[in-house]
Amino acid sequence: MASIEVKNLKKKFGEVKVIEDFSLTVKDREFISLLGPSGCGKSTILRIVAGLEELTSGNILIGGKVVTPLEPKDRDIAMVFQNYALYPHKTIFENLAYGLRIRKKSETEITARVKEVASLLQIEQLLERRPAQLSGGQQQRVAMGRAIMREPQAFLFDEPLSNLDAKLRNHMRVEIRQLQQRLGITTLYVTHDQVEAMTMSDRIVVLNQGDIEQIGRPLEIYEKPASLFVANFIGSPA
Ligand code: ADP
Ligand code: MG
Repeated sequence: MASIEVKNLKKKFGEVKVIEDFSLTVKDREFISLLGPSGCGKSTILRIVAGLEELTSGNILIGGKVVTPLEPKDRDIAMVFQNYALYPHKTIFENLAYGLRIRKKSETEITARVKEVASLLQIEQLLERRPAQLSGGQQQRVAMGRAIMREPQAFLFDEPLSNLDAKLRNHMRVEIRQLQQRLGITTLYVTHDQVEAMTMSDRIVVLNQGDIEQIGRPLEIYEKPASLFVANFIGSPA
């Protein structure tokens, strides 16, 4: 069981309250999108779950275990950002291998796992290249490959498709969702794009200035928006 639980999260930057009291459970294997306008606190919540940002109060549990005091690397999660943050001077092979290398895995084990992941993401032909020699979509695949190298319990995505053109974005939506379902990895996905949230998610959390406006299945939110804010943001008839 690899649920992601956020309990009574509060976050202030100095005196500014960004998150008042946020609680959410992403169930084992579930895909939840955190959807809301720019500045509403999506990235802050995700970064706190990842351990990249400290919380003011509250708790984070992954797979039922409290991880609040743990470093990002000890949380058994993988994060994919908008700018893929690949190492520019390393080959794709070495970009994928990095996380296992620093954990002192054997060369045999590393090579086997890189090949397995590369095959899954159809990037076997790219392993000797460097990031600059790849298209946006290929770089995105490598970033996902790197995220699943260590078989994480949970995926965290922060607007991973916003640098791609519309056609590729549509394609990658489907790819990410299929990969997530095939591997059964519990996922929290941040986006400001309604269509993305609608097409990819089991459930959507609509966020407004750090507060949850509504949680529900895509169709539910579309057909029965709980507030004018949701209706306006989703663009549904209310
Ligand atoms: P989103 O990802 O939904 O666009 P963010 O989580 O990035 O929103 O930001 C939420 C709010 O917190 C914004 O008002 C932003 O200005 C503020 N904020 C984010 N990071 C910091 C920081 N490091 N210091 C001060 N304020 C911040
Ligand atoms: Mg953000």
